[in-house]
Amino acid sequence: MHYVIVGFGCAGYYAAKTIRENDPDGKISVYSDHSYAPYNPMLTTYYVADRIPFEALFPFGTLDKIEEELKLDMHKDVKVSKVDAKARTLLLDSGETVSYDKLLISSGASAFAPRFEGLDPADAFYMRTVFDAIKLREELDSTPHKKALVVGASMVGIKVVELLVNRGIETVLADMATKMFPLAAYDDVAKEIGDRIEAKGVKLALGNALKSAQKDGDIYHCTMNDGSVIDADLIVLCIGTRANTAVVDPEQVKVNRGIVVDERMCTSDPDIFAAGDCCEGNELQSSNTMIIGLWANAAHQGTTAGANMSGKPADFDGNFLHNITHFMDMDFIGFGDNRLKGEVLYSGDIHKGLFVEAVVQEGRLVGVNILDNYRISGAIKNYLYAIMEGSAGDISPIQKGILIKEGLKPSFIEKLEGHVYAEH
Ligand SMILES: Cc1cc2nc3c(=O)[nH]c(=O)nc-3n(C[C@H](O)[C@H](O)[C@H](O)COP(=O)(O)OP(=O)(O)OC[C@H]3O[C@@H](n4cnc5c(N)ncnc54)[C@H](O)[C@@H]3O)c2cc1C
Repeated sequence: MHYVIVGFGCAGYYAAKTIRENDPDGKISVYSDHSYAPYNPMLTTYYVADRIPFEALFPFGTLDKIEEELKLDMHKDVKVSKVDAKARTLLLDSGETVSYDKLLISSGASAFAPRFEGLDPADAFYMRTVFDAIKLREELDSTPHKKALVVGASMVGIKVVELLVNRGIETVLADMATKMFPLAAYDDVAKEIGDRIEAKGVKLALGNALKSAQKDGDIYHCTMNDGSVIDADLIVLCIGTRANTAVVDPEQVKVNRGIVVDERMCTSDPDIFAAGDCCEGNELQSSNTMIIGLWANAAHQGTTAGANMSGKPADFDGNFLHNITHFMDMDFIGFGDNRLKGEVLYSGDIHKGLFVEAVVQEGRLVGVNILDNYRISGAIKNYLYAIMEGSAGDISPIQKGILIKEGLKPSFIEKLEGHVYAEH
């Protein structure tokens, strides 16, 4: 059996590992468009901030070690241009053609880099790949910067803001959304986070998108949508990501925003699988397929794909939107679709200590924001998983114990479980 893997990040690594566990003798060819070992993109900002050494970006060790352990037929610095599902072949950028029996696309995502008038995309900075991290770190280490504009009030944007502020750079964070973490935070939580960030010296320009930039020596005069001008000698675009789907032909393999997969991580072609940020798997809350750009999700999907490719049936029911992040001395955790309405429950003081805001819809918890305590996130996440998979009873006694130890009242936990709502 010849297995081929396109892209060697988290999803590709876990797929290769699982295939090798199930099939000691199969040929596993891996194509990667760079020569680094699989790296963890979520650690890139920590490297730029000098909080971890470069080697710490590679959680599975060096490429040589992985290649040997998993007995890989490894092709570094080789970009796959196109997959021909009918012929069961790949076209490499060298022009060479390679055939496969089972194929995994695990090509991840790229930073979205729209064009702004007056700003050459090569002069802006991004934060997705190891190359983005190296470029920003080298720039910051070699050139003194005074003023930065970060575009994108996302989990990535805020980490970039944090590292720039820690380097003493006056930083403006802009987003066309009117609040922080627009896809995860409830309005009052977003406002509190914004206030805290401003108190740390960051200027927020929310509801204000970058329109164009005019270079004047080392300074960009950045014109915003409202006509205001922000001066910056460094621009970092954290506007979002786009799934790397271009290798497949949408006439042959179903693609929406990502490559569409079922719970086996199989695409619309039975011999082609996809996993990680390039694909749309089941989103449990909406029952739609959706890209869920999370490390653990890529790991589960890669493992599931690898198992099915190597003949061991496995299912991954799906995932739901969640973010757990620490920045600027605070923890923010957002679970579920923050647009869903229902009875709103509060616990704690939003300005200090553990604060929880939860939305219960018809007796079912549908979303939670937590400020300043990551320790309760596991218990709440497990409970939400159970609800979305349709298997929820009450929160288990052990997990209830954790929630109570961290400061939630038993009466609030009962409300999370929908009991009070049900009595209305
Ligand atoms: C700054 C930042 C912070 C994040 N924070 C979090 C967080 O707090 N929590 C969390 O869970 N997740 C976080 N994430 C997301 C998480 O890192 C990703 O969801 C996960 O790494 C996706 O893994 P992947 O294997 O799908 O993709 P990738 O890691 O992108 O790997 C894909 C690989 O495929 C290669 N490739 C692409 N196209 C081709 C081709 N045509 N031919 C050959 N090779 C190709 C790419 O070079 C890359 O090496 C963060 C990401 C970033 C950037």
